Amino acid sequence: MTRDKAIDEQWRQVRGKLRDELGDTAFERWFESMSLVSANDSHVALAVPTRFLRDWVAPRYGDRLRALWRTVAGSTVSIEFVVKPVLANAEPQSEPATAGDEQANGEDGIGIRLDDRYSFDTFVVGKPNEFAYAAARNVAESDKIPYNPLFIYGGVGLGKSHLMHAIGLRFGMRWPDRRVLYISAEKFMYQFIYALRLDSIMSFKELIRSTDLLLVDDVQFMGGKDATQEEFFHTFNALIEQNKQIVVSGDRLPSDLEYMNERMRSRLGWGLVAEVHATSYELRLGILQAKTERAGYGSRVPPAVLEFLARKIATNVRDLEGALTRVVAHATMLEQEITLESCQETLKDMLRSADRHLTVEEIKKQTADYFGVRPSDLSSSRRAQRITRPRHVAMYLAKTLTSRSLPEIGRYFGNRDHTTVLHAIRRVEQLRRMDERFAEDVEILRRTLET
Ligand code: ADP
Ligand code: MG
Repeated sequence: MTRDKAIDEQWRQVRGKLRDELGDTAFERWFESMSLVSANDSHVALAVPTRFLRDWVAPRYGDRLRALWRTVAGSTVSIEFVVKPVLANAEPQSEPATAGDEQANGEDGIGIRLDDRYSFDTFVVGKPNEFAYAAARNVAESDKIPYNPLFIYGGVGLGKSHLMHAIGLRFGMRWPDRRVLYISAEKFMYQFIYALRLDSIMSFKELIRSTDLLLVDDVQFMGGKDATQEEFFHTFNALIEQNKQIVVSGDRLPSDLEYMNERMRSRLGWGLVAEVHATSYELRLGILQAKTERAGYGSRVPPAVLEFLARKIATNVRDLEGALTRVVAHATMLEQEITLESCQETLKDMLRSADRHLTVEEIKKQTADYFGVRPSDLSSSRRAQRITRPRHVAMYLAKTLTSRSLPEIGRYFGNRDHTTVLHAIRRVEQLRRMDERFAEDVEILRRTLET
């Protein structure tokens, strides 16, 4: 099979999208070493360096890869993973995430060092995370164990790891002679497999069982290997019996951890399950304010820029921090003042991809729901006010929340002319000024759509 430029480009795009979705760390761990062997309209072959990697990636990311390939190349393909060792003999070092390369990207070996930037003091509390925050404080500060385990769950970049570090730090401050072990579930697995190979499994178990506070991060990455799960289960129970506190985080509810065995899943739900919800505009703004103040560049970033970022970068806190850092770094480098325009210019690509997440269809659906009509009503030619109102609002929101042009928006609403869309937008702007209730409706909808 021959490979042409177009196929390489498609693969590059798929990788780019994956990186956006997974973040750098996970991407580098699972996909960096993957290469394209061949591709045609129905089949794509990808090379991975180890069997381990193949067994890990195929069930978890196979479907996603297929879907991304379809969006990029337009064809529905089957995906095959071929194992092609990079080194002649597969030393453990050639597998992903050994102690060595973790150190290189800022984490470290078993008993990952706690990062003292991630304390309770630097954690900004708002409605979406106040419950998880209170539970975390409780665990770190109670004399008795309040609940075991504490399971913190929520989407990426919403502060789960931050809270885990904060618990560890506070606990360590209160009881300097107690042992705290913070480990990612993934790392736990590697360490376990590694210890098995090196015949040091006893000392590994000993190490885990001698901790007073065990923090296991990102438990959704634990799975597959039955022996590891069994071991985790036993260690887990042993610690709980000894009255040692365990905190676990995951990106979904224990019951939804599909790669985890049944027993463990149910065990994880026995304590307290606390969710960190998606951020609200207020929380995002609060975080930006706290961060600029702490970093000492509060006065350089105008409030309008912070508000703009809080409104636009609604995915998660990590992206939000990244955006702020970029804006400040850029302005510093060019010795420019930070303005709304410079900020928009710096973040052009990021803002475009933020827009992509919100579709006009989604706006139509949510707006229709909110006003109690059907999405199809918004595209119909009906002119009753109970239909035209929501239709105008949806058009207005499509204009302000996406980068669609007026004619494009018109097409989404039953092929209306762009002047009709413009009229709708003007009408909404006018009504917002005159009618407080209406203004509030629009505002609520906007917030719902942006988070
Ligand atoms: P998760 O583990 O849920 O993926 P992290 O804890 O790594 O997310 O958070 C991502 C980034 O956002 C970190 O730099 C963290 O400090 C920051 N962050 C998240 N939530 C908050 C918050 N409420 N206050 C301050 N910083 C936060
Ligand atoms: Mg995390």
